[in-house]
Amino acid sequence: MVKQEDDFKKVISHAKEYGYVFQSSEIYDGLSAVYDYAQNGAELKKNIREYWWKAMVQLNDNIVGLDSAIFMHPTVWKASGHVDAFNDPLIDNKDSKKRYRADVLVEDYTAKIEAKIDKEVTKAEKRFGNAFDKKQFLETNPRVVGYQEQINTILKRLGKSLENEDLVDVKNLIEELEIACPLSGSRNWTDVKQFNLMFGTKLGASADSAMDLYLRPETAQGIFVNFLNVQKTGRMKIPFGIAQVGKAFRNEIVARQFIFRQREFEQMEMQFFIRPGSQKEWYETWKEKRMAWHLSLGLGAENYRFHDHEKLAHYADAAADIEFKFPFGFKELEGIHSRTDFDLGSHEKFSGKKLQYFDPELNESYVPYVVETSIGLDRMFLAVFSNSLVEEELDNNTTRTVLKLPAVLAPMKAAVLPLVKKDGLPELAQEIIDDLKWDFNVVYDEKDAVGRRYRRQDANGTPFCITVDHQSLEDKTVTIRHRDTMEQQRVAIADVKAIIHKEVDMKSWLQRMA
Ligand code: ATP
Repeated sequence: MVKQEDDFKKVISHAKEYGYVFQSSEIYDGLSAVYDYAQNGAELKKNIREYWWKAMVQLNDNIVGLDSAIFMHPTVWKASGHVDAFNDPLIDNKDSKKRYRADVLVEDYTAKIEAKIDKEVTKAEKRFGNAFDKKQFLETNPRVVGYQEQINTILKRLGKSLENEDLVDVKNLIEELEIACPLSGSRNWTDVKQFNLMFGTKLGASADSAMDLYLRPETAQGIFVNFLNVQKTGRMKIPFGIAQVGKAFRNEIVARQFIFRQREFEQMEMQFFIRPGSQKEWYETWKEKRMAWHLSLGLGAENYRFHDHEKLAHYADAAADIEFKFPFGFKELEGIHSRTDFDLGSHEKFSGKKLQYFDPELNESYVPYVVETSIGLDRMFLAVFSNSLVEEELDNNTTRTVLKLPAVLAPMKAAVLPLVKKDGLPELAQEIIDDLKWDFNVVYDEKDAVGRRYRRQDANGTPFCITVDHQSLEDKTVTIRHRDTMEQQRVAIADVKAIIHKEVDMKSWLQRMA
C-alpha cells in the first residue's frame, strides 16, 4: 500500500514538474478537486480526445458528432431523473468530522480483501514457477475462494440496499464490517444521507425573474434532446450513434484522487440508438469495441477488466465498467450502459413532443432503445499518464525516468537538439524544425549537455530526439534517438519526417483495434 501511495505521489509531482497538470488557482492555495491542464497536458488531452473522436465518429459511418450547450432547460434534469435520483450516499465521522461516500468506504474495504487475494497469487506464483495456472488457482484455492465469497456477499448486500434506498442497512453494513475512519480510526459514524451532486446556478439578471439552472452533470442529455433533430437533418437510419465530448460538473462528496475525481471534468460519450429488443446484442458489441480501443494503445491487457454492475442506475437494464489499474488499484475508467428507452421516453412525457423513429423496414414507429459508452477524458489521461511513468534501471547502474506515452498521444513528437550552440548547428536545427512543425509538435532544446537533454525529453514523454552535429553540416544527416530503446541511428535529414510519421501516425494505432 505504501508503495502504491508513493507511486501515486510521484505521478502527481511529475505531472506538475513537466507542465502537464496544475492545481486550479494555485496562488490562492488551490480549489479542491479542480485542476488546470498545462502546456503538455493540454496537448495530451487533445490527442486523447482526437483518438476517441476518430475511432467513434470518423471510422463509423453511422455515428455523427454533436456539441451541445452546457446549460439546458431545467426540466431536462427532472425528466432524466437527476433532480430526484442523482445522489450519492454520504456519511460523516463524528470524531474526525470527515465526510465520506458510504459506498466507497465499503468498496475500499473489499479492495483490501482483494489485495489479500493478490498477495496469495504472488506467493503461489513464486512457489509454482512456470507451472502456475492463475485461473485454476483463483477457482480452487480455498483461502482465495473464501476471500472472493466474502467480497461478493458484501458487494451484493451493498448493491441491494442502495437500490432499495435502504440507507439504514448501508450504515449497518459499515458497522458490522467494523469500518473505521481512515484518518482517525474512529467508528463513530452519523446516519447515511443522500446528497444531490448537481451544481445549481441562476440564469437572468433580476432576482425574481431568474431561472434556476443546473450545470450539466453528464453530456448525454444534450444528445437525447437533439436525437430527432440529428436523425432528421442527417437522414440517419437506426442503428446510429451520436457522440459528443464536453465538460460535466458534479459536486463530488470526496475528491482526493487528483484528476480521477474532479468537480469539473470532461466526458466523451456516445449514445447508440437501436431497435427495441436488440439491446443485449449491441451492449455486448460496444463492450467489445470499447475494450479493443483501449487495448490498441498498448498499456497492457492485464491492466483492464470488466466489472458488471450489481446496482443498476434508474435508467439501465445492464451496465458494466471497464476498470483500469490506476496507481491506487482497479477503478472505473469507462461505463457501458444499456439505457433502454428510459431517456427518450421520459423526455417525450415531460416535453409533450414525440421522440420516435419511423422504421421503414418494420413499417412502424417506436421510441428507440439506447446503448451508451461513457468515458472520462481526465480519467483516461490519468490512466495513460500513470501507466507510462517508469523508473528504469540502466546497465551502468544508473536510473532514468521515462514517460513512455504511446507515441500517438505524446504532446511533443520530437525534440531537435544542436550538439553545440555555435558553428551554424542551431541554424540547421531551426531549419529542421521549420520543416517538421507543419506535421508535428516539435521542440527546440540547446541548454545543457546532450545527455541531460535526452533525459529531459525522456521524462517529458517525447518519442524522438534529433541531434544535429558537425557531420550534419557536411552530409545532411542527423542522429535520431528513440525514447524507449535509447537506440540511435544516423539518418538523412530528408528521411526524418517519414521515420517520425511511421511511429506517431494515428491510422496505424487505430488499426490495432481490429
Ligand atoms: P464513479 O462511480 O467513479 O463516481 P460514475 O459511475 O458516477 O463514476 P458515470 O456517471 O458512469 O460515472 O460517468 C461516466 C464516466 O465519467 C466515468 O466512467 C468516469 O470516467 C467519468 N467521471 C465520472 N465522474 C467523474 C469525476 N468526478 N471526475 C472525473 N471523471 C469522472
